[in-house]
Amino acid sequence: MKRDVTLRLILGDQLNAQHSWFEKVRKDTIYTLMEVRQETDYVRHHIQKIAGFFSAMRHFGAALSHQGHRVVYLRLDDPHNEQSFERNLIRLVKEQHVDRFEYLQPDEYRLDIELADLASRLTVPSAVVDTEHFLTSRSDVAQHFEGKKRYLMESFYRYMRKRYDVLMDDGKPAGGKWNYDHSNRNRYDGAVPLPVATVFDNDVSDIVAMIDRCEVPTFGEIDPKKLIWPVTRDQALRQLATFIDKRLPHFGTYQDAMTAGSWSLFHSLLSFALNTKMLHPMEVIQAAIARAQATSGATVSVEQLEGFVRQILGWREYMRGIYWSHMPTYATMNHFGHTTDLPDFYWTADTHMNCMRQAISQSLAHAYAHHIQRLMITGNFALLAGVHPNEVDSWYLGVYIDAVQWVEIVNTRGMSQFADGGLVATKPYVSSANYIHKMSDYCDDCHYQWRKNTGDRSCPFNSFYWAFLHRHRQQLAKNPRVAMMFRTWDRMKDDKQRELLTQAENYQAALNAL
Ligand code: FAD
Ligand code: SF4
Repeated sequence: MKRDVTLRLILGDQLNAQHSWFEKVRKDTIYTLMEVRQETDYVRHHIQKIAGFFSAMRHFGAALSHQGHRVVYLRLDDPHNEQSFERNLIRLVKEQHVDRFEYLQPDEYRLDIELADLASRLTVPSAVVDTEHFLTSRSDVAQHFEGKKRYLMESFYRYMRKRYDVLMDDGKPAGGKWNYDHSNRNRYDGAVPLPVATVFDNDVSDIVAMIDRCEVPTFGEIDPKKLIWPVTRDQALRQLATFIDKRLPHFGTYQDAMTAGSWSLFHSLLSFALNTKMLHPMEVIQAAIARAQATSGATVSVEQLEGFVRQILGWREYMRGIYWSHMPTYATMNHFGHTTDLPDFYWTADTHMNCMRQAISQSLAHAYAHHIQRLMITGNFALLAGVHPNEVDSWYLGVYIDAVQWVEIVNTRGMSQFADGGLVATKPYVSSANYIHKMSDYCDDCHYQWRKNTGDRSCPFNSFYWAFLHRHRQQLAKNPRVAMMFRTWDRMKDDKQRELLTQAENYQAALNAL
């Protein structure tokens, strides 16, 4: 008797080996993974990002085959590859005599629309299945904030702590506080040695050669014999274990620190493994809590632990909820009406500003910058310079190993560029050199002088900062978190204000030369 054949699509960011789909090996089920130009070309990507995704997909497909599952894996240079999900799936349905099509719920809006549309047009029935990855549904955040103008992360995070009983003691927050930000976030002071980042040496030379052969446009650096990112679940688990062992004990303390001495400080480097779903967010949270409990807080204090848990249980789920409650309009928001082009040095790191050079050059070298570099260096500068959010978005979406639109765009357009008018951030994340000097050692070795506001070698962040506030006074003056800065501006003498604005104008006119 002929058995019905089911075709199941797995996208490149759906590599969840623990998914219930894979519990049983079924000869009537075909899994398919596809490397397609549609995905390599929708934005210009860092070479490590494409190589990392393809390598992780190839390992995943091979592991499924090894377990006995039927797998159709389409490489980018396969002559049968028609380079779009739609065309490939229509062909496979016909060729493999498929009776039913199933796919996992995509996390990107554009793929969600595309696959739903395709499924409705196929000649066979179809179903969309949960990825079994996130801790909230797409609509939980919207429901939590129903009727509210602002979506305060802190309120959602507390709800998540209670809902999952994470870091809770008899209904109260563990240690007595919900938030330990005040004891965290120090400058790196050398009190503990900088950790060595856990990196891998995955040989992806065949993938890189294929990308070159196919003339996929990319940027950034790679050593094809040593891709540093985890591409299997085993490697992802090793990344998690070394983080918990070596870096979690100081995570919160140095969460916002920046130093030329390290590109990753005490950060986990887990975002790629999480966003490809090789790791589940709850297993990461539980592993961290287990370590703290095993040592009764002696190695990992509640401050460090809470600082880390907040990122995953709070920020990550919250960002996803904002995405699903506000797409597709979110991708068009431009609250300040910014129009400037992204300066060339974002692609080359060729700038005299040491903070920007450090953050961009490490992004080009490793496809990674940690949160505060993304927010308070490259993001801060783009916002001060009035760069169009579309350009800022494309850069962040292309450059980082972990950049998937659902998490990238809310961080970039919302948190970093305030383009959503303050839905996510309570104030624009802009600063003068003062903050950068306080949190990093970058200013010590810079062409510009961090204390100087105007004149030769004055730090561009300073005049840009005041010009930004002046330019957007109407939109910002009523914001209580910025009001004090307007009072400072108003107390300045007219000629000082004029000097600052002229300096900013001159720098703006020579943006690419800064
Ligand atoms: P850690 O500092 O060790 O944090 C642990 C984990 O918490 C991360 O792996 C991540 O999963 C989660 N997390 C932390 N902060 C956030 C946040 N703000 N939003 C969502 N999750 C968070 N993160 C991405 O995963 N993809 C992106 O494309 C992305 N783009 C960003 C763009 C900008 C402008 C900014 C300001 C932030 C962006 N982030 C993005 C958030 C954050 O910077 C990265 O998650 C983090 O730097 C990844 O490094 P890590 O794994 O070492 O993180
Ligand atoms: Fe950056 Fe200004 Fe400091 Fe230079 S002086 S590192 S440009 S903040």
